[in-house]
Parts: sequence; structure tokens; C-alpha cells
Amino acid sequence: MRLLVPSVLLGLLLTACHRPNAGTPDAPRKAVFILLDGIPADVIERVPTPFIDAMAKDGGYARAHVGGELGGKTETPTISAPGYMSLLTSTWANKHNVWNNDNQKPNYDYWSIFRIVETADARKQTAIFSTWLDNRTVLLGEGKPQAGGLTLDYAFDGFERDTVRFPHDRAKQYILAIDQHVTNEAARYIAAEGPDLSWVYLEYTDDVAHANGDGDRFDVAVQRADSMVGRIYAAVQQRERRGERWMVVVTTDHGRDAVTGRGHGGKSARERTTWIATNQRDLTARFTRGEAAIVDIAPSILRFLRIEASPAVAAQMEGVSFLSRD
Ligand SMILES: [Zn+2]
Repeated sequence: MRLLVPSVLLGLLLTACHRPNAGTPDAPRKAVFILLDGIPADVIERVPTPFIDAMAKDGGYARAHVGGELGGKTETPTISAPGYMSLLTSTWANKHNVWNNDNQKPNYDYWSIFRIVETADARKQTAIFSTWLDNRTVLLGEGKPQAGGLTLDYAFDGFERDTVRFPHDRAKQYILAIDQHVTNEAARYIAAEGPDLSWVYLEYTDDVAHANGDGDRFDVAVQRADSMVGRIYAAVQQRERRGERWMVVVTTDHGRDAVTGRGHGGKSARERTTWIATNQRDLTARFTRGEAAIVDIAPSILRFLRIEASPAVAAQMEGVSFLSRD
């Protein structure tokens, strides 16, 4: 059939249809943040990541940092759980008190973004899709009185403990399988239910780098993670076409050592330098200059959701929103 619409016009129409953040000003606002473990900024910038690139084209991408102030009281090890906790609470380890991946003793006085959202409006639907159970049970402290008795509305996690369904292997292919399993459900659930706030945590990239360091295997793992982001973003776009407004943030928790790329935890620039990609286009100069930190993510999402933490909780947060307007 002959195309009746000139192709230029068709292109404009398609662009309009795919324009993110569509919807009326009072459209429902929802957010999902995706944490891909241990991908240095130089790697995410070098390896082809068409799905993250497409999302960032709708919004922005910039380098950022973790680890608090080098030499200052907020200095935080470039280790996974301390990084996640900095994202969740908008504080550094001197406050949230998570210094390592084991034997954590989080200080729940510094509220997580999930607790802030559920406290502001208990009708908000919250969800986690995660390859590591501790993110919910320990870092968020679900069900613990000290963490406010927080309950997420939906959790899809804990599969690393199911050794029948996901038999453990040294190459950690089971973690890749769990990442895929978690991604499948995140995409399905977001498309079907449109939760107000979701966290997707994917681990395999960090495992590959610990085992192999920088190189082809790590690059392939990063590309796989990118395609998982693409599946989740496609689900978000389905929701946007129904008139909802969505904020998506993709980030990492630390870089890697500059010598081999296997390790992290130290103070080097490559370990501290991270990145943030988002579908939001109104971004502060601090963000675009690469000066944002992992602690800025929660305040940005809260601003987008138009949810305010209590003055006491907000006063303890170390980050600032990187959205220049909501
Ligand atoms: Zn990590």
C-alpha cells in the first residue's frame, strides 16, 4: 500500500508517539531505578549499549560518583552494599552504617526511599526485582520495626538461594540466569501493574568482572545487561502510552580497579567514578557536568513523584535532585 503520509511527517508523528513523559500534567507519576552492578564509566561508554543509549537520548547520561568525600567523614568504601544503601537513603556510610556486603548493621534512622514513599502515601505500590535477597530483607529492612515495619507490595527475589532451580556453578552462569528471570518479571509486572516505585537489581556484570577482569567477557556481560534494560524500558513505554509519566534511572554502584578491573572497594578514580542514565530531559548543570553522586538519585525520584520526605528525614539526606524541574 502506498504510504499516504509523507515520510518526514510520519517520522514526526512516530516521534510524538514515542515521546517520553507524555500525558497530562496530572498524569500518574511512577519511577523505576535499575542498578547494574560494578560497571565503570569508561566501560559503559566504550561498549555498545544501544538500549541505554536510546533511553538516554530521551533524557540524559553523565558520569557521577560514589564513595562520599575522599578523606572526609562521608568517605564510603566502593563496595556494593554500601553503594546500594547510599542510593536508597541518600546518605553515606557514616550515617547509613553499611560498610561491607556481610554482617551489615544498617542504621534505619536514615530512611530508605521506599519507606519515605510508603509513609507519605500507603496506597503507593512498591516493588523490588532483585538478584540479591539482602537488598530487601537487610538494606531496606522489610518488616523490621526499626525500619518502620516497611512492607513492599511486591517482591521478586531470593532466587540465589534456590539451588534446585538455579544450581550454582563457578562461572556464575546461574546469576546470569537469575538476572534474566528477574528482568522477565520486572518487564511483565511493570507493563501489567505499573507500580509507583520499583527497584531492579542485576548482579552478573560484577561477577564476570571479579572472575575475568576487563576484557571481552565483561563487555559481553555489559551488553547483556543493556538488553535487559531495554526490555524494562519497553515495558515503561507501554505504560507511558497509557498516559502515565515515568522516570527511569539506570546506574551502577561502583567502578573497578584500573590495573585489572577485577577488584573494587578502594579510593581510585576509576572505582569512584560511576554514571547515571535517565529518560528525564530537564537536568541540572551539576548532573550534566558529571558532578552528581549516587545520593542524588533518591531526591530526584522523590521530586519527580512529588513526594516529600518529612523535614527531619530530608534534613539528613546528602543528595540533591538532578531534575531542574518536575
Ligand atoms: Zn557491586
